[in-house]
Amino acid sequence: MARNILVVGELEEGALSSTTAELVGQASRLADGGQVSVTLLGSGAGGAASAAFEAGADRAFTSDDGGYDDYNSDPWVGAVENAVGQASPDAIFVAQSVVGRDMGPRIAARQGSAVAMDCINVEDDGGELKATRPCYGGNAQATYSFATSPAVATIRAKAFDPIEPRAGASGETVDLGAPADSRTTITGRELAESEGLQIQDAAIVVSGGRGLGGPEGFETVEALAEAFGTNRAAVGASRAACDLGWYPVSQQVGLTGKVVTPDLYVAIAISGASQHMAGCSGSKMIIAVNRDPDANIFATSKYGIVGDYKAVVPALIEAVKAAG
Ligand SMILES: Cc1cc2nc3c(=O)[nH]c(=O)nc-3n(C[C@H](O)[C@H](O)[C@H](O)COP(=O)(O)OP(=O)(O)OC[C@H]3O[C@@H](n4cnc5c(N)ncnc54)[C@H](O)[C@@H]3O)c2cc1C
Repeated sequence: MARNILVVGELEEGALSSTTAELVGQASRLADGGQVSVTLLGSGAGGAASAAFEAGADRAFTSDDGGYDDYNSDPWVGAVENAVGQASPDAIFVAQSVVGRDMGPRIAARQGSAVAMDCINVEDDGGELKATRPCYGGNAQATYSFATSPAVATIRAKAFDPIEPRAGASGETVDLGAPADSRTTITGRELAESEGLQIQDAAIVVSGGRGLGGPEGFETVEALAEAFGTNRAAVGASRAACDLGWYPVSQQVGLTGKVVTPDLYVAIAISGASQHMAGCSGSKMIIAVNRDPDANIFATSKYGIVGDYKAVVPALIEAVKAAG
């Protein structure tokens, strides 16, 4: 069934974010002849539109106005509403990001519709859109259909693969103009301490837990991430390890930390508490290393290695290096 889908896009340093490309790609798979539109707001939006067309969009609602650079809900929601009015979407996809978590419910409320938050899949089921999201701290998954239109879903990064870029594809660009006045003023911004690849963006996340026995255990975890390649692997940690001061809180995975959905999640000396799994259960594959054969983490792992991480991880590092 043909459906129009609008993606609320985001920019990273003036370029199309990888999550936006993934959402546009999935929208193009589900549009079935309908139109895929994307909103792009802030400096670089005009340039990012061509990347959005290559990623599967037919139409881009853009504004290069720097007034959109710092996310502020009033002007952003106003601009997206403007695009909704013109695109008449059946569904609106928003990233489950800092921006999207705020935008999704606002857009749904303004449209008199409902929102499914934190989705790991949105698919066509016999002509009907169905959204799947983890529940009960990641121990189960619930699938929702939408009784109202447009269906609004906030979707995790890496839930979908982007489509093969349509080199040289073009589309229609519509100017959204300058931002409207806002009722709130952003007085300052502090970036959390975190270097290199962010865990939410990494294709591989290697995480360590309390079973490492101390902060020095993270050297082994970091060595495994380095063996995979620092351009695609990042290091995470359980809350227990962060609370003990062994690793920065910015790297915490879980209910009260970051949610990651990498292709591969390697859990080293982590028990697999539900609050931890809430942050990684959407991973495409989980490999666990734990010396307790009954550890909960093995229940959700594709592969499990029972043993002391001090013996297992160096062997894994050698194997990864050998595989190149
Ligand atoms: C409201 C709330 C929110 C929370 N949010 C989070 C969150 O966001 N993220 C999070 O992670 N937790 C969170 N927690 C805490 C969570 O419940 C667990 O306490 C925590 O995840 C445990 O961390 P861990 O697995 O590293 O430690 P442990 O549970 O102590 O597990 C250590 C594991 O290491 C194994 N081990 C020990 N030595 C070795 C060795 N030498 N080699 C191999 N394996 C070994 C053990 O068998 C064990 O399975 C939250 C809790 C609450 C109540």
